[in-house]
Amino acid sequence: KQRIGVLTSGGDAPGMNAALRAVVLAAEHYGMEVMAFRHGYEGLLNNEHVPLKSADVLHVLQYSGTIIKSARCPRFKEVESAQLAANNLDSLGISALVVIGGDGSFRGAHHLSQYWKGQIIGVPGTIDNDLYGTDATIGYSTAVAIAMDALDKIRDTADAMDRVFIVEVMGRHAGFIGLKSAMAAGAERMILPELQKDKPLTIAALVKHIKRVEEVRGAGSYVMVLSEHQWPGGAVALSEQLEAEYNMPCRPCLLGHIQRGGPPTPSDRVLASELGVHAVELILQGKTEVMAGIKAGEMVEVPLVDTWTKKNPLDANLLRIQHEIFNPVKKSTRS
Ligand code: ADP
Repeated sequence: KQRIGVLTSGGDAPGMNAALRAVVLAAEHYGMEVMAFRHGYEGLLNNEHVPLKSADVLHVLQYSGTIIKSARCPRFKEVESAQLAANNLDSLGISALVVIGGDGSFRGAHHLSQYWKGQIIGVPGTIDNDLYGTDATIGYSTAVAIAMDALDKIRDTADAMDRVFIVEVMGRHAGFIGLKSAMAAGAERMILPELQKDKPLTIAALVKHIKRVEEVRGAGSYVMVLSEHQWPGGAVALSEQLEAEYNMPCRPCLLGHIQRGGPPTPSDRVLASELGVHAVELILQGKTEVMAGIKAGEMVEVPLVDTWTKKNPLDANLLRIQHEIFNPVKKSTRS
């Protein structure tokens, strides 16, 4: 029987369990055995492994987190680590490894591929949606749903008090969560890493926008979505500055790791299921060093290296709509 390995690595993402389940069910379907390594690459180095059968994973897809645990493993960057991992995989008779994780985990997989002859398949598991070549990553839909839910709740209280709120969301290098949740919740403004590169936020410009919105619409709430790490000290510091320097009452709200928990959305469970099965089928096809992805509803395979060296841009139409049509202070182009 062919034996494959699987692990979850780096930041956990809702739907990782659904992906793991799909890998195990597909492997059994095709007559393979699955060995899971606990705690990501750390478990691969420490030989912390458990066999997984369908009975172990049947009812895990409704939970976020990962039943085989995830971890960061800084020493995996060393050559000796990759060699040790390769030896461990070989002595267990494993011929292919499925890595469920984000760009860091895929860099690790690529590093391992330099020292191991087995097949390596990536499954995109990250809330950030920042992997090239796939329309969505596992966990992104859930993170957006959670952020939207929080923004709706903030809106209720913000509206009652005609107040300004800054809601900090995850995605320090990619604004996908920020953009989609801002649109889904009708936020007045968003500060995303991609936009910051072109035109970094100044507090004066923000105050001007808040005041213009009030002039145009009358008093009301103003909710801003801020991706983490886009302002020194984040939402807390920015709201304090607004109050102290401009006498503008403002409240911060940090969503943090709440964005990674709770039941995964149907989209994430189904995406994870499809990609997990796809990963096993790519193994059967003899593929290696690719990520299982989805493009316009089709299963695709993306060279692992492309997933972090190339970038998916933010959706240009969503940006246009947010900035030009939904922005309360943009003048109409038609009179
Ligand atoms: P994510 O997969 O969520 O992006 P990290 O960036 O923390 O998470 O990466 C997860 C793990 O992948 C790291 O702790 C490390 O073990 C491994 N890794 C990341 N980058 C490299 C690299 N350049 N070489 C080898 N291993 C790496």
